[in-house]
Amino acid sequence: MNILLLGSGGREHALAWKISRSSSLEALYIAPGNAGTKQFGKNISIDPTDFEAVKKEVIDNKINMVVVGPEAPLVNGIADFFAEDEQLKNVAVIGPNKEAAQLEGSKDFAKAFMNKHNIPTAKHKTFTKATIKEGFAFLDTLKPPYVLKADGLAAGKGVLILSDLHEAKKEFSSMLLDNKFGGAGAQVVIEEFLKGVEMSTFVITDGDGFKVLPEAKDYKRIGEKDTGLNTGGMGAVSPVPFAEGKFSDKVYNQIIVPTIKGLKADKIKYKGFIFIGIINVNGEPYVIEYNCRLGDPETEVILPRLRSDLIDLFEGVATNTLSERDVEFDPRSAATVMMVSGGYPEKYEKGKTIYGLNAATESLIFHAGTASDGPAVRTAGGRVLAVTSFGKDIETAVENTYESISNIEFENAYFRKDIGKDLFKSN
Ligand code: ATP
Repeated sequence: MNILLLGSGGREHALAWKISRSSSLEALYIAPGNAGTKQFGKNISIDPTDFEAVKKEVIDNKINMVVVGPEAPLVNGIADFFAEDEQLKNVAVIGPNKEAAQLEGSKDFAKAFMNKHNIPTAKHKTFTKATIKEGFAFLDTLKPPYVLKADGLAAGKGVLILSDLHEAKKEFSSMLLDNKFGGAGAQVVIEEFLKGVEMSTFVITDGDGFKVLPEAKDYKRIGEKDTGLNTGGMGAVSPVPFAEGKFSDKVYNQIIVPTIKGLKADKIKYKGFIFIGIINVNGEPYVIEYNCRLGDPETEVILPRLRSDLIDLFEGVATNTLSERDVEFDPRSAATVMMVSGGYPEKYEKGKTIYGLNAATESLIFHAGTASDGPAVRTAGGRVLAVTSFGKDIETAVENTYESISNIEFENAYFRKDIGKDLFKSN
């Protein structure tokens, strides 16, 4: 099997690592990849949203399967592009088509889907320029804080949570009238604020059968105790103790099964990963969001826990035989901590040499923003490395990760020192 993996983050390094462990792999190509992915295959310097460039590489390298890491190519319709092209239609794409990717690409679509299929989510309404007044009236009916969401993709920046009604109304009109989020903000979803603890559930489906993957909890804010600016993610742990037992049954019965059945009922052929952001409100699960791909850094903590062969699962997706495949997990806990460039998520410097990558042998080190420079590896982004370790429990997994991080250095490196702490038994 020749595989082309699209993307360049820690998620893609983890996918490349896991794919490379399969005996079915003949050759792996990563576009564009990073300094870490090239340990497992050949990096190709193309933009994954340039479908003609992807097509050329697929043909030149006799690719049998394309695995899509990030959302942009999916929401832009890469699966449809392949299905409609004579030369590409027999190449499997692991990732949903454009219609199915709307679960992530349009918050209004996702909300309508959840309402239709009785999947628990925050009460909401969607507004456009023409219905601003109705939006103000809806805000008047809600209690603070107020949640405003640009309908389309906005790189994680399209959600505003505001405590003041006046400010919420101001931001709401600015989203619709000043094009604050471009086309993504042509519709704005206003929803009720849910108070609880968040976690992420991952499912892989061939559109019919599905397998539930390990769940994870991620840490989005830059500062300890979840303070400061939002980031792409500063760390993650798996499993999540509060998600086990009864809560897990509720997630399965009230969210996962109705999602898969709902897609089928709506004749949406979904092939690939579904990431479901869930919030636990007093023991009841509600969906915060769907994503049409794996998360980053959650991938770096869940794939190491997957014992099964990933290509085998992908073949199950491609040939509609996922139900016949086995999924086995490592029962141990895993923890990943992101090392980032000082200043991130605001201004930061790149090009810092990373030392000690070979010293941290007890952990898996997944590269995010890195680039090779001869034998040296240098920082090339805000999030630089995801360091993942196992342990008999979360406490030990986290401790092992921090031990490995103590061997890795680059100028102005920063990482949170409290990843997973809220889940420690002592808390
Ligand atoms: P991401 O960067 O995770 O892809 P996104 O832009 O797709 O985010 P959401 O996941 O819908 O947007 O919202 C971002 C975050 O805002 C959530 O992870 C959650 O912390 C918070 N949030 C969103 N909706 C609500 C809500 N109804 N109640 C409480 N918090 C919410």
